[in-house]
Amino acid sequence: MVPFANTHLSYSRLSRFEQCARSFKFQYIDKLPSDPGMPLRFGKVVHAALERLLREVIDQERSGPLDPNRAITLFAEAWRAEGIAGLQEFAAGVQIIREFVRAEGIVDHRDVLAVEEEFRLQVGRFEVLGFIDRVNRIDDETIEVVDYKTNRALFTRDELDGSLQMSLYELAVRRLWPWAKKVRLVFAMLRHGIRQTTSRTPEQLEAALAYVETLGRMTEEATDYPARVGGQCVWCDHRVHCDAYGKALAGGRKELGAEPSDLEAVAREREEVASLAKILTARKYELEGVLKAHHRDRDELVIGPMRYSLATTTSTSYPLDRTLRVLEAQTGKPREELLARVAIVDKDALDALVRETSKGLDKSSGHIFKAELDAVAERSITPRFNAKEVRS
Ligand code: SF4
Repeated sequence: MVPFANTHLSYSRLSRFEQCARSFKFQYIDKLPSDPGMPLRFGKVVHAALERLLREVIDQERSGPLDPNRAITLFAEAWRAEGIAGLQEFAAGVQIIREFVRAEGIVDHRDVLAVEEEFRLQVGRFEVLGFIDRVNRIDDETIEVVDYKTNRALFTRDELDGSLQMSLYELAVRRLWPWAKKVRLVFAMLRHGIRQTTSRTPEQLEAALAYVETLGRMTEEATDYPARVGGQCVWCDHRVHCDAYGKALAGGRKELGAEPSDLEAVAREREEVASLAKILTARKYELEGVLKAHHRDRDELVIGPMRYSLATTTSTSYPLDRTLRVLEAQTGKPREELLARVAIVDKDALDALVRETSKGLDKSSGHIFKAELDAVAERSITPRFNAKEVRS
């Protein structure tokens, strides 16, 4: 008999096991109450608001722009239902919702095939259960799977192409909408207003199925559930139960003072320090959130030997036309020369304009438009030290 049997599999169940077996044990074997932190709860609120917003479009068979006021009302309702607090995150959510509505442009209910679509996939002896945030009809042979993310960090190309979640979603939509010859996979990175896309070959989908079955068996055959302290602890909803996390917070490092000549020890200590830095930084932000909440009604907060106050930062921008007029008058130089010296196009604003304009173009005109912009772009490359785990 296996020590544990899955009632079903899901992407979240599998990814929890992949990321940290101890967290899997807390959740599914010990069935301890989970305590999702602010990032998870914030994501849940944004998802709920967007789901209701799009469901209304489908139910009322509407076509046209989304209503930003209705969208913000739905966000506020979801926020209240979740019972969270924090002005900064609330304002960030409102900004995300506004940008979402703006970027969507015209939404035709006939093009939104589903929101929060439930699927069940038979994989070997397992049933894989899941929900897809949104499925769009692009044309008569193409559908688009959209997963909303409120992550602060964008995915790397490796993460996009290796996402098990997206492989499962493609397998599911190919069975739910068998007429689709092409499937586009999109992570909508809501904090950035960016869509990160990926795709799968039939061979990759086959491999994903085999992997899911293997991982499913591993979850049932495991007898040891090691804690894997790392960046994922920041998001873990079982931190409160985890002694390994507690030790990490207390600074309990195993590797210390690696000899520069011992590269393996250097690498081990580097990874341990990198994990601790992430955990401690996240904890610092959590603690600052508590202090800021108490600070709100006062100019400063004095606790023990510490004085806490909020400093304001100022950013300056110069409107192009008026700035050039002043420069022309003062320097006597021609506008073209001044433009070449001081003007640069804001990339975020340009990306937003390109997305907006591309919606009204056919596919090839859209490609040409982007290629023309790419051709005039000037790129600078800065070397960045990168570390990535090699899984055997
Ligand atoms: S806090 Fe980290 S090590 Fe502990 S269970 Fe969660 S993910 Fe695993």
